[in-house]
Amino acid sequence: MIQITALPAFTDNYIWLLQDHSTQRCAVVDPGDAAPVQAWLAAHPGWVLSDILITHHHHDHVGGVERLKKATDATVYGPASESIPGRDVALKDHDRISVLGWEFDVIQVPGHTLGHIAFYHQGHLFCGDTLFAAGCGRLFEGTPEQMHHSLSRLAALPADTLVYCTHEYTLSNLKFAAAVEPGNPDTAARLEKVTAQREAGIMTLPSTLALEKLTNPFLRVDETSVKEKVDERNGTQNRAPSAVFAALRAWKDKF
Ligand SMILES: [Zn+2]
Repeated sequence: MIQITALPAFTDNYIWLLQDHSTQRCAVVDPGDAAPVQAWLAAHPGWVLSDILITHHHHDHVGGVERLKKATDATVYGPASESIPGRDVALKDHDRISVLGWEFDVIQVPGHTLGHIAFYHQGHLFCGDTLFAAGCGRLFEGTPEQMHHSLSRLAALPADTLVYCTHEYTLSNLKFAAAVEPGNPDTAARLEKVTAQREAGIMTLPSTLALEKLTNPFLRVDETSVKEKVDERNGTQNRAPSAVFAALRAWKDKF
């Protein structure tokens, strides 16, 4: 059994920590800063960091890799088509790796960056800055079409999949979601819940794909309500889902 917890980093990042209690080996996902991981290791003697999973090249995801690798000898997995410090294993779409006894499928999800990958193991999705709770990553390198396709691939995973994204953006994302779908009761209920959680300092992750499909406008571009809202704002009609996605992403960038 693997236990998954979050180590907060910077102002709103989470470094996901996976612990295999049978071997006292652990792995981290996207350690943008080595300090929280080293502090955890120091507080938990006997535990060995054996693996580091990287979703994309941004500094707040890879900044701690070299220090951790020097201190621990961990194996570093990262996307083949991006420059990842200390990478030992270069991954591409449909690759499969074994980490702490779990088989992870590698899913290429270009959009936020061109080489961005996600890791999936039976109901657990580590998706970096691609899918957020109630939102999605900004398009720094890819096109809206690429991101829409990437999100569609993630949305096709089982509905009970837990979504481990790397930022606590849920509240601001939900405010946007409520503006896109003011008549969506699931969005309203989630906004109320997350507002209370954040006021109490409680983390809002992981999410589930089922909840994202109900409340995340970027996974709902096929919905009439979302399409009509975008058409109403842009004075357009009959947009393809990827075009609705593009307009939605552009709106969120200025929201
Ligand atoms: Zn990023």
